[in-house]
Amino acid sequence: MKTAFRYALDCRPRDERGCRSHAGASRFAWNWALAKCKERYAAERKWYSGVDLHRLWNTAKKADPALAWWGENSKCCYQEAFRNLDRSLGDFIKSKKGLRKGKKLGFPKFKKRGKGKDSFRLTGTVRCEGNTVTLPRLGVIATCESTGKLAGRIAGGRARILSATVTRSAQRWFVSLTVEEDRPVPERHARPGTVIGIDLGIKTLVTGVDDAGRVITVPGPRALRAGLRRLRRASRAHARKRPGSGRRRRSAARLARLHARIASIRADGLHKATSMLAGRYQTVVAEDLNVAGMARNRRLARAIGDQGFGTLRRMLGYKTAWRGGRLVTAGRFYPSSKTCSGCGAVKAKLALSERTYTCEHCGLVADRDVNAARNLLFLAASGAESLNAREGTVRPRTARHAPPNLEPGTPPGGKTGTAARQQAAAT
Ligand SMILES: [Zn+2]
Repeated sequence: MKTAFRYALDCRPRDERGCRSHAGASRFAWNWALAKCKERYAAERKWYSGVDLHRLWNTAKKADPALAWWGENSKCCYQEAFRNLDRSLGDFIKSKKGLRKGKKLGFPKFKKRGKGKDSFRLTGTVRCEGNTVTLPRLGVIATCESTGKLAGRIAGGRARILSATVTRSAQRWFVSLTVEEDRPVPERHARPGTVIGIDLGIKTLVTGVDDAGRVITVPGPRALRAGLRRLRRASRAHARKRPGSGRRRRSAARLARLHARIASIRADGLHKATSMLAGRYQTVVAEDLNVAGMARNRRLARAIGDQGFGTLRRMLGYKTAWRGGRLVTAGRFYPSSKTCSGCGAVKAKLALSERTYTCEHCGLVADRDVNAARNLLFLAASGAESLNAREGTVRPRTARHAPPNLEPGTPPGGKTGTAARQQAAAT
């Protein structure tokens, strides 16, 4: 199992210089290799693989006196830059052929100094101990938190460091260690049989209904909105600074720190919510949100970006797996919001502004998100998900709802025309 451990580095000036030098070398290697690939692509309609580039580089660095500085940095950082480019070119081709999900990717671009993130990856001997991490060439660097937990796992033979990626974010350097771990996955969840259906929302991050009928809500950290005014003021102030001036540089740093702070508050909130859900419930049922599609809708984009739906789903996926549970996603076209959790009738339309679900068939009145979460819960209970392996997509086999004592006047489920049509569509 691959996991990542991320630590902020407490750099001395010489560590800082080393990191900058490596990041610069990594960028240079990327640009150098990209130029080579472009050259060949123009002539022969093909480029070099990562291995080819490494070989070319090894001859060039000795032959060209202008490259004599290469030895100041670990040789890994060049090699890893070539590997990155290799992957980017591969992704570009996959995207072009329609074999890759998500947005269409363009041809890889040259990296400009000061634009984009400074980063480099190192392989080879990476160690950690106490409050330090030891990187090839850079040596021992202090970390802001203890690396003891990971060191203990490595000493016990349960983990192995594969690589270290060093990145700069808002004037601070971070190291992210990619670790292969032997994490014993429990045979069964500590609370077997527990299920929760969750609806991800804008106002409330998570609205869940569990098998005991409890409604659980997690308010979003709303970090971006809270910091938005400060951010807006800081960015307006930044725009007034003369390009190239010292003040502009300082205000850019201030802006970056604000962004970094908001991002870490957000990540913290997401981690807490997902750990709680994965710990308490064996099965978590969520809808399959088309996050990329929703982010195109401008009005929703900020709120969704803020809450990080995609991140939340990814975290739920691995955290449930670690605990012997599972994440089940309802099919993209399963109308969890439009379906009545009382009788199974499906509305043709439900505006996003309608916060309360009112059913014309059975008279059920429920909070919109609670109604959706309840539908997702029933989806798991209907047994439809047993058709799928872990983290599979669920389509309702029968839209049968048998909610015990929900609202008065609830007719038996699965009897409406809409539910039957849904069944036909699923088969
Ligand atoms: Zn109804």
